[in-house]
Amino acid sequence: MNQPDPAHQPNRTRRRKIVIIGAGMSGMLVAIRLQQAGITDFEILEKAASAGGTWRDNTYPGLACDVPGYLYTYSFEPNPECSHRYAHGDEIQAYFLRVFEKYGLRQYVRFNQEVDAAEYDQHRWRITTKSGEQIEADILISAVGVLHQPNYPDIPGLDRFRGDLFHSARWDHNAPLQGKRVVVIGTGSTAVQIVCGLVDQVARLKLFQRTAQWVLPAFDTPYAEWPKWIMRRLPFTAKWLHQRYDDLYHGILGGGFGKERVLFINTFRLIAERHLRTVQDPDLRRRLTPDFPFGCKRFILSDGFYKAMQQPQTELVTDGIEGIEENGIRTRDGTLHEVDVIVLATGFKAQNYVRPIKLVGEQGITLDQYWADGLKAYKTMALPGFPNFFMVQGPHSPIGNFSLIKIAEMQCDYLLQLVQHIVAGQAASLAPKATATDAYNAELQRHAQNTLWMGNGCQSWYIDSRGRLTIWPLSIGRFQALMKQPKWEDFEISIARSKRRV
Ligand code: NAP
Repeated sequence: MNQPDPAHQPNRTRRRKIVIIGAGMSGMLVAIRLQQAGITDFEILEKAASAGGTWRDNTYPGLACDVPGYLYTYSFEPNPECSHRYAHGDEIQAYFLRVFEKYGLRQYVRFNQEVDAAEYDQHRWRITTKSGEQIEADILISAVGVLHQPNYPDIPGLDRFRGDLFHSARWDHNAPLQGKRVVVIGTGSTAVQIVCGLVDQVARLKLFQRTAQWVLPAFDTPYAEWPKWIMRRLPFTAKWLHQRYDDLYHGILGGGFGKERVLFINTFRLIAERHLRTVQDPDLRRRLTPDFPFGCKRFILSDGFYKAMQQPQTELVTDGIEGIEENGIRTRDGTLHEVDVIVLATGFKAQNYVRPIKLVGEQGITLDQYWADGLKAYKTMALPGFPNFFMVQGPHSPIGNFSLIKIAEMQCDYLLQLVQHIVAGQAASLAPKATATDAYNAELQRHAQNTLWMGNGCQSWYIDSRGRLTIWPLSIGRFQALMKQPKWEDFEISIARSKRRV
């Protein structure tokens, strides 16, 4: 007779050494690294029914990664299967699913388990899922990603529209597009890709722009079959190529986005200005010209955007939106733009980080309380008062135009050292000291003032509502050095139940 699976017995608390939240790029990486270190007593809780995170959630037309495909992979697992220089979304998702199976991650993951809350008590994290399960773990690792909670704009009448309306990250594939009048709201990296992906499918395409963007050419190109053939058979060639792209990116972007990088920024500005001149109509070109300095926001890369905006079926709308009505969008000049489909390419709640998970640390402190005066973390990874809780892609992670996978790998190397300290019994729990965390964050904000993103009038999701930078302000080399090894004196370490300061 089959034994009942203890995992499915209600009211029973499961115990694990480590719980990872999220089976996206970062969560998978943590799991692989733990396995490689011989640590297998862990579980991944994933809210959705499959792995892949961002690349599972985003399925919009035109989806690609604007980091070259041979670079946008784990360093130990190259991806020969890129049809273009910039791999398409489905190719990237297929890559992650291949890695997921290859590294046997299915045995560790439980799908459809959305973490609702986690409370630290008596040297353990007590995790509750939305389905009501309880799991206890010594270590809790958040790998929930940064850009996954859609930002629905507060445009009046959003719920009145009778046609199809959805966010870019929740694409409704049942909504017909062929021959339809479609609106895209937003002009970030996502909107630009969607415009290129939609332009040849629809009857009319209107892009509602609040802020014009600097757009660099991507120099995308399709890849022939023969290099893939070679890389499949000789994986070291794919690793070599990954490393060359890594070196190239380090050379171009690794120096960071400091205001002193005048040559770097002027070169890119000239390329973007030249690219903008491919727009023939002077009025359209004027309206597509940003009114903020180059480098204020994340670079947008696209070969097709300006071409798409010059198609006869495309229109740029720059009159502000008054509201949404049953049949379309009313702009402030009184015009009603009648449409069939509205796509909200309006970005993400990028400042939420681990939330809405209700995390409660020592002495009942919540994440909302700890972050009441703005986001901060110790070296992007840990928080004072939240022992044995670690984050991949936490606040002030380097994001920019760099490969997030590379960043996650650096963070995992550091994280593993903390985890091994606990697993080896050298600490029952550890958390960064508040003084070390505050000193680190004060220095970050000082450096932030020197970045292009914090220039006069700059606005983007890199900056929080208090005007503080939330991403890494220095070079990638500085981040790499930071992630080399923990400074143990910055931690409060407790051995068994008594705390010792080191
Ligand atoms: P985003 O960069 O935050 O852009 C959101 C857009 O929506 C902006 O143009 C914004 O206008 C507009 N918007 C927001 N609320 C609005 C409102 N109420 N009315 C009118 N317009 C409104 O979001 P995203 O394009 O989704 O990109 C987010 C990030 O995802 C990127 O920066 C990048 O890190 C990542 N991404 C990467 C890739 C890649 O290829 N690697 C592709 C897509 C996205 P304002 O500028 O005026 O605020």
